[in-house]
Amino acid sequence: MTDAEMVDAFAMAVQQFDRVADHLGLDDSLRQVLRTCKRELTVHFPVKMDDGSTRVFTGYRVQHNLARGPAKGGIRYHPAVTINEVKALSMWMTWKCAVVNIPYGGAKGGVACDPSLLSRAELERLTRRYATEISVLMGPDSDVPAPDMGTDAQVMAWIMDTYSMHQGYSVPGVVTGKPVPIGGTAGRVEATGRGCTIIAQAISKQRDWQPQETTVAIQGFGNVGSVTAQLMAKEGYRIIAVSDSKGGVYRQDGLDMEELLSYKREAKTAAGFKGGETITNAQLLELPCHILVPAAMEGQITAQNATRVQAQVIVEGANGPTTPEAEAILEDKGALVVPDVLANAGGLLVSYFEWVQDLQSFFWAEEEVNRRLEATLSRSFAVVTDLARREKANLRLAAYILALGRVKEAILARGIYP
Ligand code: NAD
Repeated sequence: MTDAEMVDAFAMAVQQFDRVADHLGLDDSLRQVLRTCKRELTVHFPVKMDDGSTRVFTGYRVQHNLARGPAKGGIRYHPAVTINEVKALSMWMTWKCAVVNIPYGGAKGGVACDPSLLSRAELERLTRRYATEISVLMGPDSDVPAPDMGTDAQVMAWIMDTYSMHQGYSVPGVVTGKPVPIGGTAGRVEATGRGCTIIAQAISKQRDWQPQETTVAIQGFGNVGSVTAQLMAKEGYRIIAVSDSKGGVYRQDGLDMEELLSYKREAKTAAGFKGGETITNAQLLELPCHILVPAAMEGQITAQNATRVQAQVIVEGANGPTTPEAEAILEDKGALVVPDVLANAGGLLVSYFEWVQDLQSFFWAEEEVNRRLEATLSRSFAVVTDLARREKANLRLAAYILALGRVKEAILARGIYP
């Protein structure tokens, strides 16, 4: 069993929430509302496999809180997807939307499957059926999915098409992270990694770290991890290690990113790259470095390994990679953790920009998207950093104080129906 399976993500999300609720002295009724997810849909659905057999898959769509707007959150295809994981991810989405102050509530979805074991045709049939099953919740004004682990622009295109077929007309605003020709936005694919890079740059500036002298280790080499590695390398940072589910590579002088990316395009993994030494995921997390970007999955830095983590700054590219116990250990050691709700909010922000463009049928140039991303994320980072200083809180607590405050305001303004 991996660490990720041992950590109950929803228990962790509630524990994080409770700490902030205690800090804020939140009253019991609001606590009850915010500790629970508003809607939890579980679907079991059949998919015809290429060999003629039929397999039943289980999927979920959870909406945590809709006080601030329509539900927003990615869809994950991974064998370890459970209802508790999806609930946790949906709660984190509520806070993330509020931290960067965009008018959405939190949601998340997932299907327990291993997309690497499915043919393209099977993946398409699974996606279209899952989209149909969750269309009782999904819609451009009600619930707008996006990519997450194991899903990409192609999966979003199938979801958009399936929903549009049911409506009888094209509805681009029903998902974000789509390909550009069907209403996707420029800059979405890179957005989360670009956001992690913006945050890393802001911290480097605070600490007077020159990129060339700043070492970076990145766990996970998918959308978030590989784009972060690429953009940070372009800015001159020394990417000393990367890894994925198959293992990792390490080179103290910095990995050659172009060679590594071209190796990955062929091999579909970073593991086995000859331009560095082979390391395990566990070793990567414990490397001495300035910045560690966990960009794979939740529950990676735990009470078991936190004492051995040597990074000075942890930029949470993944959702929930650090358990609360681990965070306390890291903090005692003087490490700074930039929480997921801020560090990886770039994808959410550009998803929001995509949705706005879809609703208006008016599209922006990539420079405009990136300019707005940089402005919004830098401002959010400054607001959270400033709040942390004033409240003598760490960045996660400060981000949560900001987020909970905004969600609370929305709930109180709307009142409890009826
Ligand atoms: P992805 O599927 O593109 O990549 C995931 C990467 O993690 C792959 O390289 C995979 O091999 C690796 N991985 C999986 N299990 C691992 C393990 N046990 N140990 C080490 N590596 C492992 O997914 P992604 O979209 O890059 O998402 C990664 C994380 O970032 C997730 O936590 C996701 O929720 C979060 N996130 C993604 C986005 C986005 O826009 N894609 C936005 C915000 C947050």
